[in-house]
Amino acid sequence: MENVRDVIIIGSGPSGWTAGIYAARAFLKPLILAGEKSGGQLMFTTEVENFPGFENGILGPELMGTMRRQAVRFGAEVIEKNVTKADFSNTPFVIEAGKQTYRAKTVIVSTGAESIRLNVPGEDRLLGRGVATCAVCDAPFYKDKTTFVIGGGDAAIEDAMALTKHAKTVTLIVRKDKLRASKIMQEKILHNPKVTVWWNASVKEVKGENKLESIVIFQDGKTKEVPADGLFLAIGHRPMTDIFAGQLTLDEKGYIVTRLGMGRQSLALAQQNLDEKGLLLYPTMTSVRGVFAAGDVVDFRYRQAVTAAGYGTMAALDAEWYLERGDSL
Ligand code: NDP
Repeated sequence: MENVRDVIIIGSGPSGWTAGIYAARAFLKPLILAGEKSGGQLMFTTEVENFPGFENGILGPELMGTMRRQAVRFGAEVIEKNVTKADFSNTPFVIEAGKQTYRAKTVIVSTGAESIRLNVPGEDRLLGRGVATCAVCDAPFYKDKTTFVIGGGDAAIEDAMALTKHAKTVTLIVRKDKLRASKIMQEKILHNPKVTVWWNASVKEVKGENKLESIVIFQDGKTKEVPADGLFLAIGHRPMTDIFAGQLTLDEKGYIVTRLGMGRQSLALAQQNLDEKGLLLYPTMTSVRGVFAAGDVVDFRYRQAVTAAGYGTMAALDAEWYLERGDSL
């Protein structure tokens, strides 16, 4: 097939770049459609201390640049255009980006998820400077600091718990009078002496010159401004899957269902795809044969750079084996 690539990778966070490194080293000459703002969520982060191999930490954008150069060194081609259309109804698959059409035998979707923002004044400017989206990643930077978490789901509780190990105070800001989190998580937080919960409360503005200094809260009909060193947004994530709707099976929140996914639909898909020994075939494959998915677009649970990179590795190896076997499983 002329002009048909072996692999197109859509997205350029840790999963996309890592898939690119593996696919390029397998001589598959991957095309990475990186998006106009390449690099994903780590481009909004400052120090990353938990990516193995960097004992003194590394800046998020630098980590993404390093991964990108590593993929390119082995022969990956990178185009910084947004994908506007994907047609998985026939092979080769057809992808449109920047008014160009690309065709491929396999596609790895690693478009990620974005954390939902509050859309309040100051938020964009202070993101990565006290306004943060992952306490599991950043809590150690808040030693003896005054911190807040907004949200009432499992992620908010997990963030608050992570902060209790380091921060001076942790206040959970909940917009209703109850938590959405699972009972067991609620137990943990409601009995933790370091955590205060503000019910029926919302954040109206975040303030600070070069870093977060205070937040404006609305509660019980009153507005108050309180000093703050950290505000963690834990009000959910939005997977970047709009262009795949109707083509790939998505779960109720829009995450791509793969055979190795986290939800019920993944278990069903896995059970339909066991080999004669009962082992799972192509764990990262989606509901469409030849289309794989990796990273936060699949994973609503771990959401770490290193797990996303691991997913990217698996997807690239699955695509390589799929191509090698000439498989139409
Ligand atoms: P959820 O959608 O479960 O919860 C979002 C929370 O944010 C809700 O409490 C919601 O309030 C609140 N919220 C939404 N928008 C706003 C807003 N604009 N202002 C203030 N509050 C807002 O998302 P999570 O990220 O917590 O979890 C996603 C999935 O991942 C869930 O299935 C969860 O169980 C799972 N998860 C599991 C973990 C674990 O088991 N260890 C850890 C982390 C996540 P309201 O309730 O009023 O709608």
